[in-house]
Amino acid sequence: MKTLYKSIPVGLLTVFLLAACGGGGSGDGPVGNGGPPLVVDAAGVSTFDSTVLGASLTALPKQTLSAAEQESLIFMREEEKLAHDIYAGLDVRWGVNTRVFGNIARSESTHTEAVRELLLRYALPDPANALATGLFQNTLLQGLYTQLMVTGNVSLVDALKVGAAIEEIDMIDLNQALLVMDNQDIVLVYQNLLKGSRNHLRSFVSTLANQGVTYAPQYMASADYQAIVSLPVEH
Ligand code: ZN
Ligand code: ZN
Repeated sequence: MKTLYKSIPVGLLTVFLLAACGGGGSGDGPVGNGGPPLVVDAAGVSTFDSTVLGASLTALPKQTLSAAEQESLIFMREEEKLAHDIYAGLDVRWGVNTRVFGNIARSESTHTEAVRELLLRYALPDPANALATGLFQNTLLQGLYTQLMVTGNVSLVDALKVGAAIEEIDMIDLNQALLVMDNQDIVLVYQNLLKGSRNHLRSFVSTLANQGVTYAPQYMASADYQAIVSLPVEH
């Protein structure tokens, strides 16, 4: 599975984290009059406010879309759908034990919707149009879905580790994509998706801690992982 995803240089994620935390043009702060588009609850569940996001996007220019930006939007639409679909499935299995999957699944539906808004904005076809839960056009994501659902059904701890892994992979792909992004509207959405993933990772890691398990990162560099989990939920 690891070979499906390009790894990022050690320290790179930290650079993005610092940029995101430093304020001043980071892209995840207030835009326009509506305040930040991401609403974060005490448990770290991070949900887009579609009205605020819509106003924020409208206030930004539509810039020329590069091939890399186009490719990334199509991929991230389905990657955020994958997070939603897996958490929704794991909520069916483990919902009596924990609310974490159901709560985060609902927020992931707003993440994939935010990427769909960008596809619409640039008149790109939506790969997830009319696709049911658990179905993907991208064959790598289809395989990953099947594999992670099998693992996540084994035990609650395995399921929580699947959740943390998805957030790690999500952040690696978003950071990789941001290296070649310059459209302000895409950067705004991706920076907020990253912030959401950092919060969701913290949620899964603390739920694992409640189960007596210390999570070790499966994809991210250890220092980048520690930089995230050593900080509280970001609002
Ligand atoms: Zn997400
Ligand atoms: Zn997430």
